[in-house]
Amino acid sequence: MTINGASELYGIIGDPVSHSLSPAMHNAAFAELGLNKVYVPLPTKNVKDALIGLKALGFKGVSVTIPHKQEVIPHLDSIDPVAKKIGAVNTLLFKDNCIYGANTDWLGANRALEEKTKLRGKKVLLLGAGGSARALGFGLLEAGAEVCIANRTADKGKLLADLLQCSYTALPNLENSNADILINTTSVGMTPNTDATPFPQEGLKHFSVVMDIVYAPQKTRLLREAEEKGCQIINGLAMLLFQGAAQFELWTGHQAPIDVMRQHLLAGLAK
Ligand code: NAP
Repeated sequence: MTINGASELYGIIGDPVSHSLSPAMHNAAFAELGLNKVYVPLPTKNVKDALIGLKALGFKGVSVTIPHKQEVIPHLDSIDPVAKKIGAVNTLLFKDNCIYGANTDWLGANRALEEKTKLRGKKVLLLGAGGSARALGFGLLEAGAEVCIANRTADKGKLLADLLQCSYTALPNLENSNADILINTTSVGMTPNTDATPFPQEGLKHFSVVMDIVYAPQKTRLLREAEEKGCQIINGLAMLLFQGAAQFELWTGHQAPIDVMRQHLLAGLAK
């Protein structure tokens, strides 16, 4: 990659950002298409000041990660309607001196799912009620799926179900679920607690597709056990990849080079 006076600037704001795989993924994609653009990590404590600075410096696009996905919203000039419903923004586009906010987490999750199954009319059991569950829940409803939430803390689960206007089921009822698709949005099973699983293996045979948004390890215990039960499985890397691809496409107007982006994500995870 050659950086020169004409290079266009992109980056990621969050705290911390040193672990982020996005710079490797986006820079590889820019290089693959021969675009004179560069993507840098931008450790950020104060969002308001950061946005003023990014605008002044002529940044074209920025990813937003924890803890700023909600905090960034009051500082936007416009927001995508689904991102507004979700209440979280992970992508900024700077254009005509205005800042537009979008959420590509749900787009990434839906695209990862749609590689294996259609979503319209499908019943989805969503485990978890945190930030990711909220993004995926709204996204699944956008795609015409029927969603049911289950969560360790029932009050939080019911609150999200009310917000999504969908059903809630208590954890002991999980094995009796009649859903087609199971999605884990909790952190259960994530490194270093790789022996943990959010769902009993016996109940997995009811699902045709099981997705885990945890991406370290790539194949969680939930996914291993789901595969043993004959389910199609989707890992968290697919969601991470496709949310990045949606950002790339919004920023550049070009189709994202998926294979190159995947290779660089895998190389980053292997480190
Ligand atoms: P969050 O807002 O903190 O929510 C965490 C959820 O996990 C809550 O529902 C919580 O339940 C549940 N939980 C945590 N520990 C649990 C346990 N021991 N047993 C049962 N439930 C438990 O987190 P988040 O931002 O949604 O992220 C969740 C996971 O998704 C993380 O592993 C993150 O790395 C991953 N993620 C992946 C991608 C991707 O692109 N693949 C993107 C974003 C996030 P309570 O309500 O009971 O506390």
